Amino acid sequence: MFVDSHCHLDRLSDKTHGGDLAATLSAAREAHVSQFLAVCVSLDDMPALAAIGREHEDVVISAGLHPLHTPAVEPDVEAIREAANDYQAVAIGETGLDYHYRDSVPEAVQYARFERHLMAARELELPVIVHTREAREDTLALLEKHIDPQVGGVLHCFTEDLDMARRAVGLGFYISLSGIVTFASATALRDVAARLPLDRLLIETDSPYLAPVPHRGKPNEPAWVVNVAECIAEARGISVDELAMQTTANFYHLFRAASPDATPGQRESLTRAGLLSP
Ligand SMILES: [Zn+2]
Ligand SMILES: [Zn+2]
Repeated sequence: MFVDSHCHLDRLSDKTHGGDLAATLSAAREAHVSQFLAVCVSLDDMPALAAIGREHEDVVISAGLHPLHTPAVEPDVEAIREAANDYQAVAIGETGLDYHYRDSVPEAVQYARFERHLMAARELELPVIVHTREAREDTLALLEKHIDPQVGGVLHCFTEDLDMARRAVGLGFYISLSGIVTFASATALRDVAARLPLDRLLIETDSPYLAPVPHRGKPNEPAWVVNVAECIAEARGISVDELAMQTTANFYHLFRAASPDATPGQRESLTRAGLLSP
């Protein structure tokens, strides 16, 4: 069983199964992908995302505003909190800092927006989904200031180095790898993938973006998170089954609200089996 911990189901390309979301999700389930976290990039999308979550019981959603989006109204902490509550989000995000594109949204705007998301997450005790690019020190400084390590979050679509990953893990974070890890040029990232603690690893597609090898150039879809898993398993010298099992357990450990039927008893047996840390 695989989990796609980060996909944009409301933005799938019309080239993905003819734009048919139900068919796209069926193809993923056939590939043994059995849980999806549909990640929000703009609070205006919340009603549409929530409708997808209501229609498909294996889809959970987040609430947040992407660092590179330019909304009509900049949401305050209250607006982020309300969106998350009203639509039963299991996480806050995606949020973060992307200084590679600082020309499209200035650093100061991104920084203040990220901080408001972190404050909302702290108040709601929800994990954060963090997008970070060329903004290492500011990202870590804000996480250090606001994150409750008991709640934590994830650095999604991770492309930074092992040192940054370790510092984030020290703050209660998980590291999520996307199809980028499969790219021929990504030797350094595969090395990071091999050396990260297995109990801190997540897998994602970030679909419809970043299709993995051998699907590069096509609009990405959740079924292909399996290609990401196979690549990481090979880099680590473990079976795909083990990688799948552990990243699934990691997902439910981080996104507790994604597992409404995980009773304390079930959690305890997963913990005993070594799949959840106590
Ligand atoms: Zn992102
Ligand atoms: Zn994303």
